Amino acid sequence: MKGILEVIPRIIVHGGAWKIAEEEHAGHMAGVRAAAEAGRAILAAGGSALDAVERAVIVMEDDPAFDAGVGSVFNRAGDIEMDAIIMDGRTLKLGAVAAVRGITNPVRLARMLFDDTDHSLLVGEGARRFAEEKGMRLCAQAELTVPREIERFLRLQKMPDYRLSYEFTPDPQGTVGAVAIDAEGHVAAATSTGGVAYKMPGRVGDSPLVGSGAYADDLSGAASATGHGESIMRVVLCKMATDAVARGLRAQQAADLAIRTMFERTGGYGGLILVDRQGQVAFAYNTPHMTVAWTGEDGSIHARIKA
Ligand code: ASP
Repeated sequence: MKGILEVIPRIIVHGGAWKIAEEEHAGHMAGVRAAAEAGRAILAAGGSALDAVERAVIVMEDDPAFDAGVGSVFNRAGDIEMDAIIMDGRTLKLGAVAAVRGITNPVRLARMLFDDTDHSLLVGEGARRFAEEKGMRLCAQAELTVPREIERFLRLQKMPDYRLSYEFTPDPQGTVGAVAIDAEGHVAAATSTGGVAYKMPGRVGDSPLVGSGAYADDLSGAASATGHGESIMRVVLCKMATDAVARGLRAQQAADLAIRTMFERTGGYGGLILVDRQGQVAFAYNTPHMTVAWTGEDGSIHARIKA
């Protein structure tokens, strides 16, 4: 039993909230489990929540099962444009990149912006140029491309009246995110995505927007969201959840409230993960599935694809 001032380090990660096809379940579960394990190892070695969420998200960006980094969806011009954010609950400082092309790990770039500049959000060509300046390896789009997304692109091209929200029922995708609390009681959040399939070129979703795709504040907790970005940003979902914690709600109540409110006010679908400043973890979603993995109080890893 830890003393009252000590916090048990915890991490919870997600791999997206969608109707995930049966045959994709095993891959998604293995992916979130590996990510939670990577984050847990950093926390167990006394590392920071910030390092833990970055590492966990990198593991999922590298995993083609998810719509982030390798495996990202195509926009309607046939290009991959990715969004990511990382935020530190200790200082409220953040780094984010949007509509960035040709790199494998957008969250790493967001972290470099966080560490090495006084900027918060870089988009498009500027973000890519920053990656180049920092010596990050640039890659061809082919390196990020998986057959699943080529097939999806070709199918969506044949749907003239396609709307973004259509993709929220029939197709597995998988924005990724992680939130953690470290032994010093600091929280952090990170989110990374290829966005939604067949988006307009230049479309930016909720993921890199502070408060919407992620939020972290040591005084309340940290959250990362996934789902219909155009709905999530209208209610500033993650900030809504951490504000509810600050008002005294328990982590699970706050997560439930945020998802319920988003649906009531916008009709939007999605999910979020949350850790509060006491180290309670929670997740909530109103989609058929959400893939999550988290460390229990005893340090063991739990993973789920539906409640
Ligand atoms: N929220 C992401 C976006 O709208 C998509 C997702 O979470 O799957 O870009």
